[in-house]
Amino acid sequence: MIPPLHIPVQPDKLVGMHELAMTENILNIVMDHASRANARKVLSLKLKIGELSSFVDDSVSFCWSLLSQGTICEGAKLEINRIAAEFECLGCGAHFFFQKELTPCPACGGMQAKVLAGEELEVSSIEIEQD
Ligand SMILES: [Zn+2]
Repeated sequence: MIPPLHIPVQPDKLVGMHELAMTENILNIVMDHASRANARKVLSLKLKIGELSSFVDDSVSFCWSLLSQGTICEGAKLEINRIAAEFECLGCGAHFFFQKELTPCPACGGMQAKVLAGEELEVSSIEIEQD
């Protein structure tokens, strides 16, 4: 009998399940577009990820290289653009940006605001090679 192997995993090396699932969604979207365009290979793709989302660029890149193996997306360059978080104050209507921590409205000091941008996650463009 061989005793079970315990492989130590550093907590910071763990990839969140939501990143894996999210990257799988991205791959599905890209594959769908690529096949409709009769792509032979996907060369690169651009993603927009809002600052308010918890996705970490490195984890997304890691998941992408893992999941794209053996597909026409293998080796495609992943470019991630971060979208700044923008708010609109519910008190005075001023627009302001998120700076590290939630800050009160710079115009009136109000603490209630709605999110205008920063929660997005989208594939903004795909570069393909056709037959
Ligand atoms: Zn305000």
